[in-house]
Amino acid sequence: MSEFLNPSLKKLTPYTPGEQPPNMDELIKLNTNENPFPPSQKVFETLTKDAVNRLRLYPDPTLSSLKNSIAKSLKTAPETVFCTNGSDEALALIFHGFCAKGAVFPLVTYGFYKVFCQMFDVPYTEIPLTKNYEIDINDYAEYDQTVVIANPNAPTGMYLKPATIRSLLDQNPNRAVVVDEAYIDFGGESALPLIREYKNLFIVRTFSKSRNLAGARIGFVIADSGIIQDLETLRCSFHPYNINSLSMAIGAASVSDKPYFDECCKKIIENREFLREELSKLGFYSLDSMANFLFVKPVSGISGKEYLDWLRQDKILVRWFDRGEIRDFVRITIGTREQMEAVITSSKRLLKTKG
Ligand SMILES: *Cc1c(COP(=O)(O)O)cnc(C)c1O
Repeated sequence: MSEFLNPSLKKLTPYTPGEQPPNMDELIKLNTNENPFPPSQKVFETLTKDAVNRLRLYPDPTLSSLKNSIAKSLKTAPETVFCTNGSDEALALIFHGFCAKGAVFPLVTYGFYKVFCQMFDVPYTEIPLTKNYEIDINDYAEYDQTVVIANPNAPTGMYLKPATIRSLLDQNPNRAVVVDEAYIDFGGESALPLIREYKNLFIVRTFSKSRNLAGARIGFVIADSGIIQDLETLRCSFHPYNINSLSMAIGAASVSDKPYFDECCKKIIENREFLREELSKLGFYSLDSMANFLFVKPVSGISGKEYLDWLRQDKILVRWFDRGEIRDFVRITIGTREQMEAVITSSKRLLKTKG
C-alpha cells in the first residue's frame, strides 16, 4: 500500500472473483455460474469486418440500440431501461447514488454488495437468513435504508415469488428496493411488472448467466423513468462510453434470438434437476435452487472443503465459501449433461473411498 491512497479506502477488501484458470480446456469449470453453451449464432454474425472497423469511433453514448432491443424484448418502454458494463456496474452506481441512508441486505448473499458499501462509504446492515437458508422479508420491515435482495439469492439459489417482493415494497414506500435478478431466467418469475406500480423498485439483470455472455460485460436496470434519468446522470458523470460498440451489437443480437435463449435455459433447468436427484440418491443435500447452480452439502463426514478438493483433483472446479454459516456447502454451477455426469461419478468415487 502506498502513502497516497485515500485513508478512507485503506481498509477496502476487494471482491474475490472465482478462479479463471489458464488451462480452462482441461477442466470442468463449474465455479463461476457461467453458461456451458456458446453464445447465440446471431452473436457470431455481428463480428464482421465493419464492426471491427467501427472500433475506430467512440461507441454511441446513448446506448440506444441496445436499450431499444432490451425494451422491446421485455415489453417495456426504453425510458425504463438503463444499460451498463456488466450488472456490477449498475450495482456500483446504485450503491453510490441511491443509498444515502445506508443499505440492508442478507448476511449470506452476493459478496459484492458489502464491497460496494466499503468502496462508496455506505453504512450497511446484514440480516441473517432463516435456519432454512431463506430470506424472511419480515426481518426487513423496520429498515428505512435501501434494501438489496438477490432473487434467486446467491449462493443459495433460494427464490422469492413476485407476491413476496410486493410485500417487501409495501412495507415501506419511502425506501428504495433493489432486486438483483441475475438468475431469474432459470425458472423464477420476474418482479419486473411491478415497476409500473412502484416508483422505488430497481430490477437489475445481466447477460452473464442466462445469455451466455459473461465475457461481453453487459448488464441493465429496469425501473421507473425517474430513476433511469438519475442513473443516466450518474453514468454520464462517470463513464458515458461504458459499453463498447462490439458488446452493444452482441447484446442486441443475443436478445433477438429468443428460441436459442429459451432452449439454453430449459436445458440448464433440466440438468439442474438431474444433478439434484442424482446427488440426493447419494445422500447429498441440495437447497431448493431456482438458479443455474446448486448449493450442495455432502453426506455427513465429508466437509465442504473436502468435497471441493476432491472434485478439484478430478479436474472439476466448484466454489466453496470459507464462512461459518455456509462452510458445509459447495456451489456447483449447472453445466452440460456430460459435466453433471462427471460430478456424479466423482462424488460416487468419493463416497467409495470413505467406505
Ligand atoms: C454474477 C452476478 C452479478 C454480476 O454479473 P455481471 O453482469 O457479470 O457483472 C450480479 N449479481 C449477482 C447476484 C450475480 O451472481
